[in-house]
Amino acid sequence: MLNVLFSAKPAVWEEYEAPLRNAFTNVGLDVDLACDHAPADVDYIVFAPNGPVTDFSPYTKTKAVMSLWAGVETVVDNLTLTQPLCRLVDHSLTQGMVEWVVGHTLRHHLGMDTHITRQDGVWREAFPPVATDRPVTILGIGALGAACGQALHQLGFPVTGWSRSAKDIPNLRCLHGDDGLTAALTDAEIVVLLLPQTPETENILNTETLGLLAQGAFIINPGRGPLIDDDALLAALDSGQIAHATLDVFRVEPLPQDHRYWAHPQVTVTPHIASTTRPETASAVIAGNIARGEADKPFHNVVDRRFGY
Ligand code: NAP
Repeated sequence: MLNVLFSAKPAVWEEYEAPLRNAFTNVGLDVDLACDHAPADVDYIVFAPNGPVTDFSPYTKTKAVMSLWAGVETVVDNLTLTQPLCRLVDHSLTQGMVEWVVGHTLRHHLGMDTHITRQDGVWREAFPPVATDRPVTILGIGALGAACGQALHQLGFPVTGWSRSAKDIPNLRCLHGDDGLTAALTDAEIVVLLLPQTPETENILNTETLGLLAQGAFIINPGRGPLIDDDALLAALDSGQIAHATLDVFRVEPLPQDHRYWAHPQVTVTPHIASTTRPETASAVIAGNIARGEADKPFHNVVDRRFGY
């Protein structure tokens, strides 16, 4: 019998209890799942950053911490966390992100706002370029960014992806490193941010890098708020260098009511809803990963703490 501790916001327990129990049964694990195991008895922790566990040191026999979130920036630097940390990679989370990114990319590409928000009797006949003439750059081509890249490629967009390490992903122009960043951003017309929040990625979009983009480019950020220097973005929006920014994530969430983004006519704020973890699919992923550990196989999606993601 394995003791699995569920540590997330209490309200989430109701959503996860049955799916996790089912998932453990489906992979043949005998699990005592609870929110209140004694720390020294816990084999695995199913974890969200807003739950009760903040000090991992009493969890002396815990073999791994399974995050319910893809982003791990709030826990990766926790010095008490010595156990392996696995982030969530789940096809439903990926599918949700692909839909959100494709939707907002098409909105900007087609100039949909012109006709949706201005039903004023004026016959405006302007045609957007076709997708093949609209270069899109995705910063971060991991689980989410690469899937978005494939979907945008299917629609005809020339897609460039940028990562930390060198990659070779079919259908994407793959660049990496500092020189790669300059090349990836130069003349890009739509930029999607799907990087994790780390010391290296903070303010990756700043005055200098925003200046590389095509005049009137669009920014779509479902990654993390600190990826963008907010003052630099607001200046670029005001100058027309950036035509519009669709932002799902912010340095402070919920975004304060008096933040300039809310009132800015060229900014769309969405409340961190680009994609979410679905209990059924996430539970299957977590149970499968625990089953791997119990079969002495390496865990999937272990966070590399040297890189912070
Ligand atoms: P992932 O698989 O770890 O991919 C991260 C990508 O970023 C990889 O391509 C990685 O490069 C690249 N990267 C990391 N540090 C870099 C650096 N210093 N320079 C260049 N590239 C760097 O992560 P994911 O699952 O796709 O998730 C990405 C992020 O999406 C999460 O961290 C989270 O912040 C965000 N997210 C948001 C929502 C939402 O609802 N808004 C939902 C889920 C996730 P390598 O390929 O070389 O490792």
